[in-house]
Order: sequence, then structure tokens, then C-alpha cells
Amino acid sequence: MRKHTIGALALAATAALTFSACSSGSVGNEAGSSDTANTADGGGKTIRIGIKYDQPGLGFQDGANFTGFDVDVARYVAGKLGYTEDQIQFVESPSAQRESMLQTGQVDMIFATYSITDARKEVVDFAGPYFVAGQDLLVSADNTDITGPESLEGKNLCSVTGSTSAQKIKDQYPGVNLLERPGYAECATALAAGQVDAVTTDDIILAGLAATDANKGKLKVVGAPFSTERYGVGIPQGSDQCEAINTAIGEMIEDGTWEQLIEKNTEGTGYTPNDAENPPAQDACS
Ligand code: GLU
Repeated sequence: MRKHTIGALALAATAALTFSACSSGSVGNEAGSSDTANTADGGGKTIRIGIKYDQPGLGFQDGANFTGFDVDVARYVAGKLGYTEDQIQFVESPSAQRESMLQTGQVDMIFATYSITDARKEVVDFAGPYFVAGQDLLVSADNTDITGPESLEGKNLCSVTGSTSAQKIKDQYPGVNLLERPGYAECATALAAGQVDAVTTDDIILAGLAATDANKGKLKVVGAPFSTERYGVGIPQGSDQCEAINTAIGEMIEDGTWEQLIEKNTEGTGYTPNDAENPPAQDACS
């Protein structure tokens, strides 16, 4: 493990050098220096954290501000690792780009409704989980015939490239016409415009989209989850940060912050977490 870690740090340092001259797409917060900390204490360095920008209540860009449960959890964990607010640089991490952004050193950590899966663990490491959601469906408020994935045969369904949600449909419901988009907000727009019959992803994401001013009263979550999505903190393979992140998540749950952050970020959506699964215990770091 130690040997592995040192090798990975050397690799990460090489990656940082290689990529420091490149633009990494949309970058939030003016962070100045691109030198990042791979150590547990922030000491004057910047940490680049991958989040979603288009998932209200989870990871959302609102002008110069970033809001949502993932963002708040990221701030809490970064604080426990020794970073101040202004040392955090948020970077947009769309579903399909999360593994490559960690592998190429464009971000140090990802908090972006990122399910822990064996396939992803082949190329990145995870701390956590810090939340458990379930895949569900978003439909028109007046729809009564779509009650679960079995009722989607021959229907047009939108989901996001690189997500477990799209993969599950391809693997288990091949009779569904799947339209893939880069983000769930685009799927919700397609649904509101009548271009698709439903949108699928995690229930907590769908609840946030259904509660926006544009969609309120027009879209609804079916409310019959059909998967278990354990949200982890994505870190580069061989990172030595897993234990410290898990300790921080444990403290966040213990001190009542987790509960407060869930309430604050789901307020007005009607969403309640699955109590049997939440708050979750953290996996052992490998
Ligand atoms: N949690 C699922 C995943 O990690 C779906 C949500 C997302 O695309 O972020 O693929």
C-alpha cells in the first residue's frame, strides 16, 4: 500500500505538471495558483473539487455561487482536511468525465452524485459512501401509465452518458429507446417539451429537478426506486486521502451536520432519504 501510494503520488505530480498548462474546461472560483495539495493539511494550497453544475440541491452553479448537498459535504470534508473556503476551487465534472478527470489530475476529489461501482474502482478509488440514493423515473405530472422501468418498453427515455442510470437501462431494459444527454437538466428540458416520455437517474437528483420554478407542477418523480446508488468521494487511484475523508464523513454524521445539510438541500422537494440506508457507514479503504 505504501509503495503504491508513493508511486501514485509521483504519477500525480507528473500529471499535474503535464496538465498545469492546459485549460480544464469550465472552472469555478478564481483560484489563482494551480498548485494543489495532496497532503492532509491545506497549508496555503488549493484543492480542486469536481462537482456537478446543473443538479439543483446537489451540485449547482448559481452565478458565482455553488450550492447543494454535494457542495456542502465537499466544503465540510475539505475543511476537516485543513482547507479554508477560498482554497477550494470547484470544477465542473459531468458524469462521463469523472474517471478521466481524476486519472489525468484535473481534479483532486469528486463529490458529484458519484456511485461507488466495481467497474469505476478499476480506475479510481472511493472514500465514503456519504449518501445512498436509488434510481427512479421522472415523468409528466399528469402521467399515470409509467410506474417503473417495466412500463417503459418502446417508450423514449432520457438519461446521461457515463451514468449508472443509463447503463442499467442498456443492460436490463433493452426494449426502451434510450436518448443520452451530457446532463440531467437537458433531459428534464426534453421531458417538459414532450420530446421524451421519462427521465431516469437517482431519486434525489430527479426530486431537485422537479422542484425548480420551471418544472414545479409539470413534472413528478414516480417514487419507486429500483437500484442502490452509494455516493462516494472519487479520488485518484493510490491516493492516501481515503482514511482522512472517511473520518471527516463520520464526524459530519456524528455532529448532526449530515442531517442538517440533507434537510437544507431537499427543502421544498418532498424528498426524504431512504432511512434504512442513510446515513451510511463508510467502506474500509483499500
Ligand atoms: N449516481 C449515478 C452515477 O454515478 C447517476 C448520477 C450521475 O450521473 O451523477 O452514475
